[in-house]
Amino acid sequence: MSDKGAETGHLQELLSRVGEGLDEYLKFEHQDALHTDKNWRQQLDVPLPEKGEGIDAVTRELIEQVIPNGSAIPNPGFSSFITTGATTAATLAATAANIASPQRYMLTAFNFLEELSLKWLAEMCGIGKLKGVYSSGGSVANLIALGGARQYAFEQIGIDPAADGVDRPVRIYASEECHHTIQRSVGVLGVGRRAVRAIACDQTGRMLISALRSAIIEDKAHGILPMAIVANAGTTNTGAIDPLQAIAEVAQEHKIWFHVDGAYGLPGILDERISHHYEGLEKADSVIVDPHKWLGASVGVAATFIRDRELLQRAFTQEPADYLEGSVDPSAGVIEHSMDDFGIPYFDYGVELSAPCRGVVVWALIKEIGVEGMRHRVKQHNDMAKTIAERARNHPNLELLIEPSLSICCFRYVDSQIDDLDQLNQRLHRQLVRENTYMPSTTRVKGTLALRPCYIGARHQPPQAEELVEAVLRIGREIARN
Ligand SMILES: *Cc1c(COP(=O)(O)O)cnc(C)c1O
Repeated sequence: MSDKGAETGHLQELLSRVGEGLDEYLKFEHQDALHTDKNWRQQLDVPLPEKGEGIDAVTRELIEQVIPNGSAIPNPGFSSFITTGATTAATLAATAANIASPQRYMLTAFNFLEELSLKWLAEMCGIGKLKGVYSSGGSVANLIALGGARQYAFEQIGIDPAADGVDRPVRIYASEECHHTIQRSVGVLGVGRRAVRAIACDQTGRMLISALRSAIIEDKAHGILPMAIVANAGTTNTGAIDPLQAIAEVAQEHKIWFHVDGAYGLPGILDERISHHYEGLEKADSVIVDPHKWLGASVGVAATFIRDRELLQRAFTQEPADYLEGSVDPSAGVIEHSMDDFGIPYFDYGVELSAPCRGVVVWALIKEIGVEGMRHRVKQHNDMAKTIAERARNHPNLELLIEPSLSICCFRYVDSQIDDLDQLNQRLHRQLVRENTYMPSTTRVKGTLALRPCYIGARHQPPQAEELVEAVLRIGREIARN
């Protein structure tokens, strides 16, 4: 059996076959993976092969059994959670990097695009003064930012927490609507998940400044070291944007690190109709955004931005290692080969050494459609949420549960004859998803079960908002009748 996978010269043919399979997949004329489960499971569930079958067999099985039974996430009707499929530009760039620059370090065009795309991204999102580093997702991006916050807070009192650990209780202030990766991050950072103090929100899901202020004053009286205030630029639940300006002022007043979690909502700043909600963002000490959410990157691309990257180096350096630094010699003063230097040491600004080139993906996304194209997409998605809100406000069988801030709309079906509306909407939602055409997720808004479409995908089309509402009305009526 020839080992074509390690040979050269076959990529064009093989990629074109896989590309054909993917084009077919993206027509979404196939059934859901579980509908056809019996067939593919039987085909794929074979014992560990002692002998290889070769790249042709792998390619064929990929096209015939694996790809057609993939995820509903890239389906244009999928609006669950905050996730979507990669655009074509992102797919091409990620594939190119996979072959031509497996690592982000060394002086290559890919390494150059790592920094250039971070600059573009920061400028596009109104934080042009901050420096960035990529990581795998919002979870790690928050971890890196809060690692910076921990470093800053303890260095103020003469302690290096990265080297010596922490010796006292700290507090992180975040709204009760914050993403739970905040708690996990600070757990990993060794200050304990309970160090996060949940600050109450108002009726619109935004952090209450009065509650934030009194929490800080109370903790200070107990000698607790404040580590960070975390604000949301688009909560995961409803898309609410915290009052950033007011929070920035509190942070400044008490000299506390100001972190903004914009994993989902940071690109919302491109919509000039709502960009005033982002005032104060420029005062942040750290900000994160997930290009793999609203910008259409392949999953695995997030960015942390920070005022001072050296702080991240102190927080996360893996310390020089012979097997790494020993291989380059920048002190020789002549850089004439891509292997003469690592370039910017991103591996010291976070928790990953080996990491794919993500900059080329973000570069491709922005280069393809420009800021103008991104703005158009973001506005269109925000309009889709507004369209649903408008219908929900005006239809007797619908209820809008919270005014949309961005591209998420929380609403439900109502019927005065029905007592348990949570149960009705839960059943309605299960049926909706099974029809395989419009697939929102659900959440709870002030305790009430809500249908929660979130539009971030490049393949989402405006009519889908109206069509979802029609499907909800049709299924709601059917369930209420029975
Ligand atoms: C999605 C999200 C995260 C987590 O990001 P992942 O990329 O899924 O790890 C963190 N914060 C917010 C506000 C999010 O919406």
